[in-house]
Amino acid sequence: MSVRTRADLDQLPAYVAGKSVPGAIKLASNEVSGGPLPGVRETVATAACEVHRYPDIAVGRLTEVLAERFGVDTGRVAVGCGSVALCQQIVQATCNGPEDEVLFPWRSFEAYPIITRIAGATPVTVPVTDAHALDLEAMRAAITPNTRVVFVCTPNNPTGTVLHRAELERFLDAVPTDTVVILDEAYFEFVTDPDAPDGMDLLRGRDNVVSMRTFSKAYGLAGARVGYAVGPAKIIEALRKVCIPFSVNALAQAAALASLDAEDELKVRCAEIAEERDRVRSGLLDLGFEVAESQANFVWLPLGDTAQAFNDHCMANKVVVRTFAGDGVRVTIGKPDENDAFLAAAKSYRP
Ligand SMILES: *Cc1c(COP(=O)(O)O)cnc(C)c1O
Repeated sequence: MSVRTRADLDQLPAYVAGKSVPGAIKLASNEVSGGPLPGVRETVATAACEVHRYPDIAVGRLTEVLAERFGVDTGRVAVGCGSVALCQQIVQATCNGPEDEVLFPWRSFEAYPIITRIAGATPVTVPVTDAHALDLEAMRAAITPNTRVVFVCTPNNPTGTVLHRAELERFLDAVPTDTVVILDEAYFEFVTDPDAPDGMDLLRGRDNVVSMRTFSKAYGLAGARVGYAVGPAKIIEALRKVCIPFSVNALAQAAALASLDAEDELKVRCAEIAEERDRVRSGLLDLGFEVAESQANFVWLPLGDTAQAFNDHCMANKVVVRTFAGDGVRVTIGKPDENDAFLAAAKSYRP
C-alpha cells in the first residue's frame, strides 16, 4: 500500500517563480534592484547573532509600530511570513470545504488559485477587462451566498492596473457584509495616480474589509518574508489563529522594523521607480507594443500567443522576464541601465 496523500493535490497548480540566470538581468519577480533600505543590512547582521533564540511569536514590536503608523489598535494588525501567507491564512480561516468559494479576478496573482485549492475551497474567477483592469461589476455579480473571500488586487499583478476610489467604494458597499474582501495592496507604495485609494481609508467603518501589504516589494525584503494585514479585530484574530507558530522569523522582524525607519529613502526610491515605469511604458508604446497602464513596479505586455517568443528573445539578450505562456509578459522595472537593456531587447524583437 502506498501512503495516502490528498487526491485533490493533483489539481494544485505549481507556483512558477521568476528565474534567476547567472549573468543575466532579472526583471522577473517584481523585486527592487536597489536592495534593502539603509541600515537594514547592519540590523539584520546584529539580529543574526541571536538566531539560536526563537523569534517573538507575537511579533510584538513590529505590530505596535504598524498599528501606530495606521492609527489602529494592535488587535487590528497581523504580521505574516510574507503577505502570501496571510492570503492563505484568510482562506484557511474562512473556508472548510468545496462549497466555499474564493472569488478573484483573472489574470491576477498566481498564488490565489493555489491557496484556494490548498484550503479545499473552490476558486471562482472573473476575467479582467479588455484594458486588463479588474471588472468590479462582473465580480460583484459573481458573488454568491457561498463566497467567503474576494481578492481585489490593486495594482493588479501581473497587469499593473489600479482601481479608482469611487468604483472601489461602490463595490465595497455592494458586497454582502458576511463576505471578506481582501484589498491586496502589495504594490501600494509605487502608486502615483491621485484617484487611487489608500486601502487603509476604505477599511475604516467596514467590518469585512482587510488591507494586505508586504515588505517584499518596495521595501526590498523579498528574501526576508514579511508582510502584514490591517483590518477588523475579528478577522485579524482569525488570521492569527491559523498562523504557523514562529513563522515570522527574527531577522525578518528586525529587517522590517529597520525598514520602517527609512521612510524618506523609501519615498525617493519609489518615485524613481514610478518615473522609470512611465519611461519604459512610453518606450514600449513608441516601439508599437500594447502595454497596460501600470501603477506598479512592472509593466504588462499582453502578447498572447507570441509571449513565449518574446520571452526567448529577451533571454537571448540576457534579460529575464516573467512569461505567462499564451497570455503575456510581465517585466519588472529595475535600475535605469537594466531597463535600457530590456528596451534594447524589445527594440530588436521581430515577431
Ligand atoms: C508579491 C505579492 C504578494 C506578497 O508577496 P510576499 O512576498 O509573500 O509578501 C502579495 N500579493 C501580490 C499581488 C504580490 O504580487
